[in-house]
Amino acid sequence: MMNWPINTVDGVGEKLKEQLEEIGIKTVQDLLFYFPNRYENYEIKPLSELIHDEKVTIEGQVIGDPIVTYYGRKKSRLVLRIQVEHAIVKGVMFNRPFAKKQLEPGDIVTLTGKWDQHRLQITVEQYKKGKAKTDQPIQPVYYVKQPIKSFQLKKIIKKALAQYEGQIDELLPSTYLTSYKLLTRVKALQEIHFPTSFQALKQAKRRFIYEELLLFQLKMQLLRKNNRERTQGNSQLFDLALVNQFIDKLPFQLTKAQNRSLQEILQDMRSPYRMNRLLQGDVGSGKTAVAAISLYASVIAGKQGAIMVPTEILAEQHMLSLQALFGEDVSIALLTGSVKGKKRKEILAMVEKKSINIIVGTHALIQEDVHFANLGTVIVDEQHRFGVNQRKALRDKGIDPDVLFMTATPIPRTLAITSFGDMDVSQIDEMPVGRKPVETYWVKDNMLTRVLQFIQKEVEQGFQAYVICPLIEESDKLDIQNAVDLYQQLQEAYSSYQIDVGLLHGRLHNDEKEEVMQQFASNQVQVLVSTTVVEVGVNVPNATVMVIYDAERFGLSQLHQLRGRVGRGNAQSYCILIADPKGDVGKERMKIMTETTNGFELAEQDLQLRGPGDFFGKKQSGLPEFKVADIVQDYRALETARNDAQSIVYNQLLTKDTNYQVLNKYLKQTFNDGEVTFD
Ligand code: ADP
Ligand code: MG
Repeated sequence: MMNWPINTVDGVGEKLKEQLEEIGIKTVQDLLFYFPNRYENYEIKPLSELIHDEKVTIEGQVIGDPIVTYYGRKKSRLVLRIQVEHAIVKGVMFNRPFAKKQLEPGDIVTLTGKWDQHRLQITVEQYKKGKAKTDQPIQPVYYVKQPIKSFQLKKIIKKALAQYEGQIDELLPSTYLTSYKLLTRVKALQEIHFPTSFQALKQAKRRFIYEELLLFQLKMQLLRKNNRERTQGNSQLFDLALVNQFIDKLPFQLTKAQNRSLQEILQDMRSPYRMNRLLQGDVGSGKTAVAAISLYASVIAGKQGAIMVPTEILAEQHMLSLQALFGEDVSIALLTGSVKGKKRKEILAMVEKKSINIIVGTHALIQEDVHFANLGTVIVDEQHRFGVNQRKALRDKGIDPDVLFMTATPIPRTLAITSFGDMDVSQIDEMPVGRKPVETYWVKDNMLTRVLQFIQKEVEQGFQAYVICPLIEESDKLDIQNAVDLYQQLQEAYSSYQIDVGLLHGRLHNDEKEEVMQQFASNQVQVLVSTTVVEVGVNVPNATVMVIYDAERFGLSQLHQLRGRVGRGNAQSYCILIADPKGDVGKERMKIMTETTNGFELAEQDLQLRGPGDFFGKKQSGLPEFKVADIVQDYRALETARNDAQSIVYNQLLTKDTNYQVLNKYLKQTFNDGEVTFD
């Protein structure tokens, strides 16, 4: 019955049906799950409990005739006096002179409006003759579009609830209701629309929050299971001894966290299912090293590996660091948009013949006619810059390799299990020993001269600096103008000190960008002025200063990313935030930046301060929309739902346990998009 069209509800005709469809209500289910966006409280409280300036409802007896006075052209003010308990309360009503005739001495009235505690006065918004309706003091208010009105929707929902209450199935097995003390689905629906008390309303919400999160997590877990089982025989069988030899030859010892993550990855690679894993770790925590070992294992297993990065600059850097790690053992090639013509053909041919083991590139790698002989593992760096589509593109090419996504944006756990709920997650949450945390300072604009002197001092000691330009939102053009201005300003300031300044921004051609980066990497340029394009994974260990203009405009995670560009060598590094935040939140954020260098901690704080929508930036949030749940506030429910979903899917309860029949049927109906299969 829940999928029945909306005009099966008594009193919904053709016209209303169309209007409801306008706001997305097509079925009885849609209607019943169109929740109020707020509530009005018409509860009558004793005078002593009323709160000044709040909206209240009072009930009393009219004393004497109301008095109307006129002012202005058409304005009027009506004053009436009513007896409430033992007090006389004044009611003031604007521009409703006709009320005088309706309210006579001795009448009982109910008034709703703003309460003035000092004058014992109420500014009346609504009045009603007679006693307050005490059966339904909390009234729902719905977000609607013209011409439907909230009260109309309220009426229809009330009808639908009465008409269908016997047919609303409980989705959750009763054990859940008992152990989490949840309202039944019917009861919760009644209470969320027509709460009998605020306590009951809260319980109704709690029920739906859990339900919503459980359904979502079930979808994720089913996807994960499907994904694992889609491919058979994807085992990469490598000789572990050889992999260990390689690890022993590395110039450093892996951290505990690197080791743990590596074991998780190798386990995935060895097993017959397809790896779909996210590797998270702060900048410099050694993700690339872990990725390299994984690729090496793939090569040992007789397969090829690929590593995809978002920019050409990064591709080249990865290429260099991998070459350094692998030496002569492994043949590596670079494939980006700028590798063209004959060179490109040669590389493609070698990839196809498997005389190249590992290929490094931008996403040109998956879009163009690259044919791998035997692709075993794909590593995707800076995962959230690659959309779901690119993930799918790989699969559509008919290859289904083990995939490891890496990101240096530590993602708070709550977001990780929502945005990446269908993936396995490994975390490198510790830095290699001996790293000196970047010293971070927050200064105001007026310290600029000192900042420039500080850079100069570092440069004189042989180090280099990044200067990130003021950010102008939504305007590429102004951004670049700013960058150019700042660049000229610094050039001038440093002209007599033999300090060379470079400029990097998004509008430069790729080869121009590369040239500038090359000059910076080789220390021909000591100070690099840049827009945020530098954010993504550039590695110049000799840079020790990161200056960020307008730091208050960036999210904590983004600031942290930028800061991660320094502190990569042995010398002490510094990050200087130039910011003049207006509000407390902005100040708090700058303070947090100066106090912690732990990316995971910052990510959590960022989430608390900015909310999940802003966390990834506007364009790429990738977050599902929830109706009642808030993944930040409801993170406990989220964790619970996640665990429950995991155990339901793992134990195949949906199909094996009759208590889950209703839930299973519901999931099948809801997720019939072909993405998920159920048996
Ligand atoms: P990420 O990719 O996470 O930013 P990298 O793997 O590029 O980090 O590592 C950053 C630097 O630290 C590199 O120069 C790398 O050689 C070095 N490194 C990686 N792992 C360790 C370790 N366990 N101990 C010491 N140095 C390490
Ligand atoms: Mg990296």
